[in-house]
Amino acid sequence: MKKGEFLCPSCKTKIEALEEYRGHQVQCPSCSQITTVPVNLALNGPNTMEKVSKGVDTIWSFLKGGAALVALVLIGFFVFHLFNATEEETRGDKREGGNEEKYLPTKPASPEQIRHIQSALGEEYPISKGLTVRSRRFPDWYYVGASFFVQGVGQEVGIWIISGPTDKPGLMFSVDGFASEFSGMGEASRTKLGASVVDEEARALKAALKKF
Ligand SMILES: [Zn+2]
Repeated sequence: MKKGEFLCPSCKTKIEALEEYRGHQVQCPSCSQITTVPVNLALNGPNTMEKVSKGVDTIWSFLKGGAALVALVLIGFFVFHLFNATEEETRGDKREGGNEEKYLPTKPASPEQIRHIQSALGEEYPISKGLTVRSRRFPDWYYVGASFFVQGVGQEVGIWIISGPTDKPGLMFSVDGFASEFSGMGEASRTKLGASVVDEEARALKAALKKF
């Protein structure tokens, strides 16, 4: 409820009056003089309340603005990374085409690693060549690429990531689409390894195996 104050014309006591008493006659609580509440009685009280709630509104919209900003920053970050990944992939493709690209050195995959992949592929896709590069981020893991034959299609190259050691391969995930399609092994990009075709290890294997 809005209210205001005015001075009693008779004794100058401050009288508080509710909004709806503006223009009405009231009795001064101090000197009992009957006086009229000014029609233009300046209202405060609830006005202050209004200010308070406006203040809360301001804080709230500031917070909402802040949340929106955080969301924007997150989206920006995400887009930036997407863009970067795409750029990296494109660069990778260019590198595969160019001869001056320096790939990580590859080694022949161990017979155990090849057997491991072959058992996931099944005998219908015989492996003719296997190469490996140790993961630089996860030294217990090896990127293993294999060239295998698909009836009616020809040689395909798939990249997997397999936990070591090389002579005792353990867990295996697919790094690229061919590995995932033909072996059915889960995608490494969905694991903490986060391994994908843009990794230097995978690019090195792909480049080396495509020469065969
Ligand atoms: Zn008075």
